[in-house]
Amino acid sequence: MLSGKVALVTGAGRGIGKAIALSLAKKGAFVIVNYCGSEQKAQETVAEIHFHGGRGVACQCDVSDFSACKEMIDLLIKEYGHIDILVNNAGITRDGLVMKMSEEEFDEVVNVNLKGCFHTIRHLSRQFLKQKSGKIINISSVSGIVGNPGQANYCASKAGVIGLTKSVARELGSRGITVNAVAPGWIDTEMTGSLPEAVKEKLKGQILLGRTGTAEEVGEVVAFLASPSADYITGQVISVDGGMAL
Ligand code: NAP
Repeated sequence: MLSGKVALVTGAGRGIGKAIALSLAKKGAFVIVNYCGSEQKAQETVAEIHFHGGRGVACQCDVSDFSACKEMIDLLIKEYGHIDILVNNAGITRDGLVMKMSEEEFDEVVNVNLKGCFHTIRHLSRQFLKQKSGKIINISSVSGIVGNPGQANYCASKAGVIGLTKSVARELGSRGITVNAVAPGWIDTEMTGSLPEAVKEKLKGQILLGRTGTAEEVGEVVAFLASPSADYITGQVISVDGGMAL
């Protein structure tokens, strides 16, 4: 379904990004597994892609760095000739109550989660316009829709991702480029693993389906949005949250 397509997935060495990379590769895409600090994990993702008969490479870049993103994307276009799918998945948390939050904690989260999406879209959109095709999928969060105490920085960044998604969808739609966001709820990864048990129990009570989600369940939705089956879907925010934000 995605054979011949080249996909760039940011933060794909572990967690949701890894599952997205595997889903896209299983559907035939050549996957560029971006990582920031976890080179070994990224190489393991690539090895898993190869194990399943897919194709991919690892590629280091800090998405919060505007120039580094340009360098990465220019290099990838030179090497592969085209990029067809961009998944902005890289994300971090620096939780704390707003009254105690440092400027650095706020900026760091916004720089990776929101500006990271801007950087890759900024540098890739000219190529997408040239190709008159492209699929952009940004990973937002249920927290960006309903807010969360202790996560003002994170929620602001993820709400920003939704605004960015809708604006870019409006800008690029006439050239056949689709731009959508996926808003996961509580997905079991390293990011959520460190939550205190009491918070976990409280959150679980808010999920209509009564369980947490898996990274693979997010990966499948992203792969659908990247596929021709979703050609008529743009500017949308698809929640994958077990009904948490209903
Ligand atoms: P995770 O396990 O902590 O993984 C985060 C990923 O982001 C890692 O691969 C990491 O790569 C990458 N990353 C961090 N900073 C980066 C940077 N500056 N440049 C490039 N990559 C960077 O988190 P996750 O749970 O899989 O989350 C993935 C995405 O889903 C995030 O955007 C997160 O906000 C969103 N999300 C998660 C949940 C959830 O419940 N887990 C819910 C809603 C939304 P390195 O290890 O190489 O640094």
